[in-house]
Parts: sequence; structure tokens; C-alpha cells
Amino acid sequence: MGARVSVVEGVHVVVVGGGFGGIAAAQQLQDWGLSFTLVDPKDAFHHNVAALRASVQPGFAQRTFIPYAETFGDSFVQGQVDRVDTRRQMVVLQGGREIQYSHLILCTGTSGPFPGKFPGNTVVSYQTAIKKYDDFVNQVQAADSVLVVGGGSTGVEMAAEIKTEYPDKKVVLIHSRIGLADPELLPSVRQQAKEVLLEKGVELLLGQKVRNMSELQLNVTQKNMVVSTERGETVTTDLIICCTGLKVNSAAYASSFSDSLTNSGALKVNQHLQVEGFSNVFAVGDCTDISEPKMAYHAGLHAAVAVTNIANSLSGKQLTSYHTGNVTMLLAMGRDDGVGQFNGLKLPRCAVALGKSRDLMLWKSWREMKQTQP
Ligand SMILES: Cc1cc2nc3c(=O)[nH]c(=O)nc-3n(C[C@H](O)[C@H](O)[C@H](O)COP(=O)(O)OP(=O)(O)OC[C@H]3O[C@@H](n4cnc5c(N)ncnc54)[C@H](O)[C@@H]3O)c2cc1C
Repeated sequence: MGARVSVVEGVHVVVVGGGFGGIAAAQQLQDWGLSFTLVDPKDAFHHNVAALRASVQPGFAQRTFIPYAETFGDSFVQGQVDRVDTRRQMVVLQGGREIQYSHLILCTGTSGPFPGKFPGNTVVSYQTAIKKYDDFVNQVQAADSVLVVGGGSTGVEMAAEIKTEYPDKKVVLIHSRIGLADPELLPSVRQQAKEVLLEKGVELLLGQKVRNMSELQLNVTQKNMVVSTERGETVTTDLIICCTGLKVNSAAYASSFSDSLTNSGALKVNQHLQVEGFSNVFAVGDCTDISEPKMAYHAGLHAAVAVTNIANSLSGKQLTSYHTGNVTMLLAMGRDDGVGQFNGLKLPRCAVALGKSRDLMLWKSWREMKQTQP
């Protein structure tokens, strides 16, 4: 956090998206004493790092949503941004409401399949979201067998969470590649993730793709569904959970920043995290084109750079730059185990279990939002 800035006349920062990047930006704007509005379709921050635990452990979901208004008061507006009018410096919400900005921070992140992500494109209350997770726990409990599709970090964590909470269920993880988890992790960490899954009794189908994925009924327990792979193997399962296919949420800005977009819809940013061609527009988190693993941890670091640069530009100081460090990534393999690396160095499993897996760092977000965890 920096000192409070004295030049505030006419300055109003609009933060679009209240994920890890958005709440970090809003907190820092609050600390700097800068006027801001945070906009998100939900009324609470979703700690989606803990979403997989919320999918298997009854009653856990309420700990994964932290109401915005209690932290940010009137500086939070619930709504969905439809477009940005860069000429008039207005953010336009669904329904027509407009919010003027002097500076804009875009942090609309990515969307992906439930339960790893909560659908972010509709205005919804957090009680509804919590109920969706609680209902999903019932689906998991009703299934004797579960098929997890996708063995990236989310799929690996999902399979481990189910097998830890329900050791008697049959859990199969299918992955199109041979290597599990994130390719940016050390090979020894990826291997360890595989070993933990096997120790827990997860069955692995590697180098195989599900046939006709779009035709399968996801997230609903139905006894003895038969799923075929493209190589002709079959898996009989009661519940199918998809953990693949994150997409950049570019709808809020795609039309206004079409010249600054990559093919995936990510925003091209310079080292100060300014969107290409706009000195007063910043982007942070998963919606940027920064070449590094898409992580909450990075989104928080980006937010600090963007807010510092807004403050620096107001007081005529030099802008600061963002540099990607060595990969730090921790995978919770259920509440009792974990694998990962810190600053490029592999960590012992017990260190990850203690540091991350026990409560998925929920305490950190509740503390940052200055609220008490239920
Ligand atoms: C299951 C899972 C586990 C993970 N575990 C880890 C982990 O352990 N550690 C880690 O560092 N990272 C982890 N990640 C990655 C991490 O969740 C993301 O990198 C992080 O959420 C990115 O933050 P963000 O703010 O960029 O975007 P998001 O968290 O995706 O937030 C974007 C926000 O923008 C809002 N939004 C979207 N469109 C609009 C619009 N038009 N108008 C207004 N608001 C909008 C959405 O509602 C959402 O609240 C995990 C991801 C998943 C799926």
C-alpha cells in the first residue's frame, strides 16, 4: 500500500469485475483514498480457489462468498458491464446505467464450467450461488462413481477432493494428455500430483479424450451412464464433472478495445499494465495477455501495479512495471495433502497441506475484505 494521494479532483476509477484482481484493486484504491466504483454481476466475491471443496463438503460454500457491500459500501455497484464508451469515458451497464471514469481497471477474468467457476454473466445473489454449491454436494453424495474430465490443475484437485471426502466412491480422471496438472509446473511436481492421486485410489485414463462431450449430461447424478473415449474405451459412471475450457470474459470490452485484443479475447497490456493504446485504462488478472500461468496470486500482483500506476500518474511520478517471477503454484490434493512449488523450488507435501490445503487460504481473503469468516 502507498501513501494517500492528495490530487483527487475529477478522479474516479471504475473497476470492472470483482474477482481476485478486482477486489485487490478496490482495496488498494480504498487505501490510497481514491474515489472508485467496483462493478460485478454478483453481490459477493467468489473465492473460486475453494470452489472444489465447496462442491464436496456440506456447508463449506458459505465460506467461499464474501459480500462486497460490507467492505466497499456504496463504492460497489451490482451489475453487468455491457460496453465501454472510451470517447465519453463511460462504462455502460446492462439496463443502460452509465458510470463515468477518469481511469478504468478491467479485470473480468475467465469463465468456465461449474463447479470450478460460478457462472459470472448473470446478475445473481450470493445466497443463490451458495445454494447451487450445496445442491451440487447432494449430487456428489448420491453418486457411487464420478468421472472427472480434464486433468489440468482444476481436474487434479477436483478428483483429489472427491476421493478425500468420499474414499469409498469410485473416481476416474480422464485427461487428453499424459502429463497431469499445469505444464508450467516442475515435472517432478506434476509426477507427485499423479502419485498422490494414485495413492488416494483415483483411477487415471491418460492420453484419452471423451467422445461427444457436448452430448453428456454434466453435474447431475444419473446411475450408470456410459461414457466412451475416442479410442473406444468405456467408463460407467453416475456423475460427470467437466474441468476443462476456460474462456476470457471479453464481452464487457471487446467492441471498444477491438484493436487491443488477442485472438482469445485477452487484452494486450504493456509492462505498466496499461491496455495498448490507452494510458488511463489498465487490465489485470486472467483477462490480460501476460505470458504466465493464470492465477489469483498473479491477479493480486497485477492489481497492485495498476493502482500504484494510477496514483503515480496523478502525482507525476514514474510508472512502475510488472515482471513475472519464477512459478509459485500450490495444488490442494484434498484437505490433507498437497503438491507444489515456491519460486521455482519444489515444496514438501506436508508444507503445501499445511499452508494451502487445510483451508485454501480463505482466511487471507476474509482478512483482506475486513470481514469475519462464518
Ligand atoms: C478451481 C480453480 C482453482 C484455482 N486455484 C488457484 C490457486 O490455488 N491459486 C491461484 O493463484 N489461482 C488459482 N486459480 C486461478 C484463479 O482462480 C484465477 O487466476 C483468478 O480467479 C483470476 O482472477 P481475476 O480477477 O482475473 O478473474 P476472476 O476471478 O475470473 O474474476 C472476474 C470477475 O469479473 C466479473 N465479470 C465478468 N464479466 C463481467 C462484466 N461484463 N461486468 C462486470 N463484471 C464482470 C465476474 O463476475 C468475476 O467476478 C484457480 C482457478 C480455478 C478455476
